[in-house]
Amino acid sequence: MADQKRDYYEVLGVNKNATDDELKKAYRQVAKKYHPDLNPGDKEAEAKFKEANEAYAVLSDADKRRKYDQFGHAGVDGNGFGGGAGGFYGADMDFSDIFSSIFGGGFGGSSRRRSGPQKGADLRYGMNISFMEAAFGVEKDITIDKEDVCNVCNGSGAQPGTSPETCPTCRGSGRIQQQTQTLFGMTMVTKDCPACQGRGTVIRTPCTNCRGRGRTKIRKSIHIKVPAGVDTGNRMPIRGEGEPGTKGGPYGDLYVEFKVAKHDIFSRSGADTYCEVPISYAQAALGGEIEVPTIDGPMKYSIKEGTQPGDTVEFRGKGIPYINSNGTRGKHTCKFIVEVPTRLSEDQKKLLRSFEGTLTERNYARKSGFFKKVKDIFR
Ligand SMILES: [Zn+2]
Ligand SMILES: [Zn+2]
Repeated sequence: MADQKRDYYEVLGVNKNATDDELKKAYRQVAKKYHPDLNPGDKEAEAKFKEANEAYAVLSDADKRRKYDQFGHAGVDGNGFGGGAGGFYGADMDFSDIFSSIFGGGFGGSSRRRSGPQKGADLRYGMNISFMEAAFGVEKDITIDKEDVCNVCNGSGAQPGTSPETCPTCRGSGRIQQQTQTLFGMTMVTKDCPACQGRGTVIRTPCTNCRGRGRTKIRKSIHIKVPAGVDTGNRMPIRGEGEPGTKGGPYGDLYVEFKVAKHDIFSRSGADTYCEVPISYAQAALGGEIEVPTIDGPMKYSIKEGTQPGDTVEFRGKGIPYINSNGTRGKHTCKFIVEVPTRLSEDQKKLLRSFEGTLTERNYARKSGFFKKVKDIFR
């Protein structure tokens, strides 16, 4: 029997020096190609799948691989690995992490799936939007790649004109009872039928479009209405736009998660907005009409005489709308930055010096008080 076996390296399509990573990768490819879920009823694929499992079980174990390299199949047969390829399908080896990464969580779990209807997987879509789009809302078309029900077989997995047949092993129940020896004696356990993976039906002629899976990868465009007021990290559920459920379960949901770009002059905290407004020394001292920016556009504002650097003014209702609030908005705060002029001409300096010469303590409430305090400290 050992003589008839194919070389394990050949089975996985790797050379004898293959690293563990290369082995794992090669095994995934072969296992995926011949997985029984993807090739229902195909005996040859099933045999190849078992063969790949056996090859990988040996080659992924350093000790067994060494023995195999030295002695061939004889080195590993009779080491608990005898009994032909069939013994390997249920071998004591954890395939679950490999299968979950091949098929993604949903599909890899198919053989362990509960029998009832299950909701489909939720999906996530990260959407970048501008500051203003977040403030006022926007409509966008997004494109998502997802699994959907195969439109050729309507999800049955059977080629049109044929239909899935009742599984002869479980007679359609999807479950089988098995007598098992435990520490407490013989017990009956119920488990998913291995012949149909719990579906209750088997497909004799798989749909060629989805290769019998009942679902295919699709690209779908979805129109999204982003409400005014969203912020970075907000998630908006789009009901029913996830992946299809199983056994009549509902579709999962799509969650659109927002990332709001920074703005050149505005910042925000929740629904409140902020900006800094540079004003001149003369504007600050004399007061006067200026325009301050708001998210609605420039707005006239009268600076009061003697405005100090860092003084702020608040405008209620000029911030961002609260989400789903019928237009109630936060406040907008402007902070005045007094800009000191630079690169003065000689004439300008002369004027400024003569102006400075006219100022007295009574022009500077803070400054005169400050120097008085300094004097008091060192008295
Ligand atoms: Zn199909
Ligand atoms: Zn069955």
